[in-house]
Amino acid sequence: MIQKIGVIGAGQMGNGIAHVCAVSGYDVQLLDANEDQLRKALATIGKNLDRQVAKGKITADQKAEALERIKTGSNYSIFADSDLVVEAATENEVVKKAIFQQLCPVLKPEALIASNTSSISITRLGASTDRPGRFMGMHFMNPVPLMQLVELIRGIATAEDTFQLVREVVVRMGKNPVSAEDFPAFIVNRILLPMINEAVYTLYEGVGSVDAIDTAMRLGANHPMGPLELADFIGLDVCLAVMQVLHDGLADTKYRPCPLLVKYVEAGWLGRKTGRGFYDYSGEKPVPTR
Ligand code: NAD
Repeated sequence: MIQKIGVIGAGQMGNGIAHVCAVSGYDVQLLDANEDQLRKALATIGKNLDRQVAKGKITADQKAEALERIKTGSNYSIFADSDLVVEAATENEVVKKAIFQQLCPVLKPEALIASNTSSISITRLGASTDRPGRFMGMHFMNPVPLMQLVELIRGIATAEDTFQLVREVVVRMGKNPVSAEDFPAFIVNRILLPMINEAVYTLYEGVGSVDAIDTAMRLGANHPMGPLELADFIGLDVCLAVMQVLHDGLADTKYRPCPLLVKYVEAGWLGRKTGRGFYDYSGEKPVPTR
């Protein structure tokens, strides 16, 4: 039975995962390498809980209880009692593997590890731990408190009871699990990211402006957000990392990352989180940059 859930990485995904775990009654241990991120994450969780109180989704008491369940720290010893640890750090295989090297020695032998990776092989990540049978993919969508889906991915060594225990957590969170096989980027990003990459090519080749491309897809395909707006929301570094994994993993040139996407990431224009991507977020309203 899972009662205590650790979360590694307190960025946009990690704070959302900590939020939904705490609201669902789990004790949460949240770790980040950067102390500042932990402070920001707690502030964001507080703000998002306030929003849920205002909408009548939870009571003020439930908000206070949820916040009390979240403990933060930068030392892995906070995971000594965790039943499940969800890794949601930067989308980089070297970083994730280094995290598991630090995490495994402090965990209980029966503890499970899940990675929120958007694209990296669960089998390969699991093989870098001391417990491939107790390792799987748990891919939340952004923003975590609002999005209904969690993709569940078994690595080749993932045990059935690991899968079922993690599935129960997803159901207790009130979310819908969908099972995906361990192929690059799984289901949602295998389909979504090539579309976003194509939108960047459309911009790069001058077929349309940022506004024209997003308006076209909102009104023409009935998407709630345009693809460039969505890319800024996801983070352009995450988008690029997923395209690289698709390109390398499936060895098909149709997945080559658009050079303009690469350039934006090299410039540090990562989207909303850095204040600039395909839109400039420094004013009251996002302004297209091209
Ligand atoms: P982010 O940049 O907002 O946050 C990453 C966090 O990891 C940062 O706070 C950083 O300080 C921390 N970190 C980096 N190295 C660390 C280390 N060694 N130890 C501890 N913490 C470390 O990124 P994000 O968007 O939250 O993405 C996190 C993960 O979630 C990635 O694997 C990403 O692919 C996945 N994901 C992202 C989205 C999305 O829409 N952004 C959706 C689903 C899954």
